[in-house]
Amino acid sequence: MAAKILDGKKVAEEIKTSLKEEVTRLKARGLTPGLAVVLVGEDPASKVYVKQKEKACEEVGFASQVYRLPEDTSEESLLQLINELNDDRAVHGILVQLPLPGHLDANQVIQAINPAKDVDGFHPFNVGRLAAGLAAPVPCTPRGIIHLLEAYNIPIAGRHAVVVGRSNIVGKPLAQLLLARDATVTVCHSKTGNLTSFTRTADILVAAVGRPRLITRDMVKLGAVVVDVGINRLPEGMVGDVDFEAVREVADYITPVPGGVGPLTIAMLLRNTLEAALAGQGGGPPGE
Ligand code: NDP
Repeated sequence: MAAKILDGKKVAEEIKTSLKEEVTRLKARGLTPGLAVVLVGEDPASKVYVKQKEKACEEVGFASQVYRLPEDTSEESLLQLINELNDDRAVHGILVQLPLPGHLDANQVIQAINPAKDVDGFHPFNVGRLAAGLAAPVPCTPRGIIHLLEAYNIPIAGRHAVVVGRSNIVGKPLAQLLLARDATVTVCHSKTGNLTSFTRTADILVAAVGRPRLITRDMVKLGAVVVDVGINRLPEGMVGDVDFEAVREVADYITPVPGGVGPLTIAMLLRNTLEAALAGQGGGPPGE
């Protein structure tokens, strides 16, 4: 029997509907959540992501501002903009779209963001808090994956979760979140020998690699939950890191690409921004 689809698009729409209601209430109290997005250069994928984020902010009634800076922007002027946004009381969240052009040091830039406004959860202060099990803004994609699993009542505790990919953006924070929910977690990467021997033991298998259809049917245990984070643009269109058609024959649940993890990532960015706005008012709980 083919796997059930984990419909990220539908779940993200539900989140946005509830956020919209909450924003209406907050606006009545004089608080409009504000997100500043900074895009440097002309990376085509980044431009698409920023546009999607801008549109989502509009949909739920946030005040969003996109700063589109030229490719040759100096680190000094980028850091100056971040400082201004840090000081701007109408801005509750700051997101610098990655990757940055090669002459800019992403670590320096991320560390310049006020951790309270770090809605991507990439600042070392927040990374440390997450690792220590303290409240922190949680990186959007991992938070979205956990939300999707929970929305479908998929148990995490006691299960073996295998995360393929160890980036700071997806793999590592996701491993932390799964561990915090009592999964037994294995993290694989490009130097992992015999990847299949690990993936085949996964109850929950997450692919966050960026290699089209890396995860094939023989790598997946019967009845597994398969989450495909990958976005690979091929001549025939967008595909994930999982061979969807073949793997759906053995898995119990699977995310499609597109329409799986992507929409949740944006929904969680909105939620992180709203939580930052509430925390700025002495109001709400940061993080999950
Ligand atoms: P990175 O390139 O930062 O990390 C990729 C990871 O995959 C690395 O840890 C790398 O290992 C590992 N890897 C590479 N090749 C292999 C292999 N053959 N076998 C096992 N592991 C391998 O990517 P990101 O984490 O930023 O993104 C991963 C994918 O997810 C991309 O396609 C990206 O576009 C997509 N993405 C999607 C999002 C969404 O909202 N849907 C959000 C963010 C990303 P090593 O560390 O050893 O190099």
